[in-house]
Amino acid sequence: MASNKMNIAVIPGDGIGKEVVPEGVRVLNAAATKYGLDFNFDEFHFSSCDYYKQHGQMMPDNWKDQIGGHDAIFFGAVGWPDTVPDHVSLWGSLLQFRREFDQYVSLRPAKLMPGVTSPLAGRGPGDIDMMIVRENTEGEYSSIGGRMFPGTDREIVMQETVMSRVGVDRILRYAFDLARKRGGKLTSATKSNGISITMPYWDERVLEMQKTYPDVTVDKYHIDILAAMFVLHPDRFDVVVGSNLFGDILSDLGPACTGTIGIAPSGNINPERKFPSLFEPVHGSAPDIAGKGIANPIGQIWSGAMMLEHLGHPEAAQGIMTAIESTLTDPALRTGDLGGTADTITCGKAIAAAV
Ligand code: ATP
Ligand code: MG
Repeated sequence: MASNKMNIAVIPGDGIGKEVVPEGVRVLNAAATKYGLDFNFDEFHFSSCDYYKQHGQMMPDNWKDQIGGHDAIFFGAVGWPDTVPDHVSLWGSLLQFRREFDQYVSLRPAKLMPGVTSPLAGRGPGDIDMMIVRENTEGEYSSIGGRMFPGTDREIVMQETVMSRVGVDRILRYAFDLARKRGGKLTSATKSNGISITMPYWDERVLEMQKTYPDVTVDKYHIDILAAMFVLHPDRFDVVVGSNLFGDILSDLGPACTGTIGIAPSGNINPERKFPSLFEPVHGSAPDIAGKGIANPIGQIWSGAMMLEHLGHPEAAQGIMTAIESTLTDPALRTGDLGGTADTITCGKAIAAAV
């Protein structure tokens, strides 16, 4: 049973993270009132470039003790390239969470919302509504490999793809479960016609897993044609699962088909809830608009809805989604990236009121 009491670690981070996170919290508080939930929010100021400036590292040594016991992490954005190189800020924060908290699912919805213009001609709300499930811990992004005879004309470079049965099966199981909860349809991204060892293995595990989900229909596409199909026929997809690399590509392509980066949410999830999962907007700290109060808070707010879904409160999550959609239908409540004039707080307050 899902508990109504939830301990949330709030990490605003850098740039517009500090502006959109309070709006996300505002809407979560509104949902708490409406649906009888009880949040305790603990705010942390590490995992930010300001913290780095003061301490020479992104997080305190005992960061895991500080947030490891929370039910989830509500995260804004990290990165301020003028002061800290992106690879330092990223490796020193988000990627630590992902690894130490075994967040092996990266989940990104791609849904075309009212008031948002898709770059795909002729597509309107209702035409695109999918979930992209990316394996987040192994696959193509192993650091195993090397370079021989560097700098000579005999130079050889290699990097291995690593797939384990545990790793593949657990991401597939998550995707099948999600497909079962939604439309009963799953698409698997593969490339077994070109990558002749690991991808056939992936396909094999999909077939094996399918036996235990007779109610889910599965189709598989090679990644090249799948990318094309996202653009040509995004309406054909519901839950799409891919390896680390293929999932990475699709989880940028999917949300790009649905308009603006300002509204796209994401989850880095440990489904068993052994460790806290992390929910954050897809966008970064956006230094170009930070401090102006004009950032779109919807990516953050939607991430809050995903967090509620993960913590076992689908009704409250749906309440937030409905509030986002109704707010987006009013042009006066849209932020600049959507062609409106509303500021961050106006948009956040409107969604909270709609909840
Ligand atoms: P990352 O930190 O993930 O590397 P990035 O630095 O490539 O991301 P963002 O910080 O997401 O990029 O910004 C990309 C562009 O999108 C910028 O022009 C930024 O102003 C705009 N943008 C990002 N988020 C928002 C938002 N919430 N509202 C309005 N515009 C946004
Ligand atoms: Mg950036």
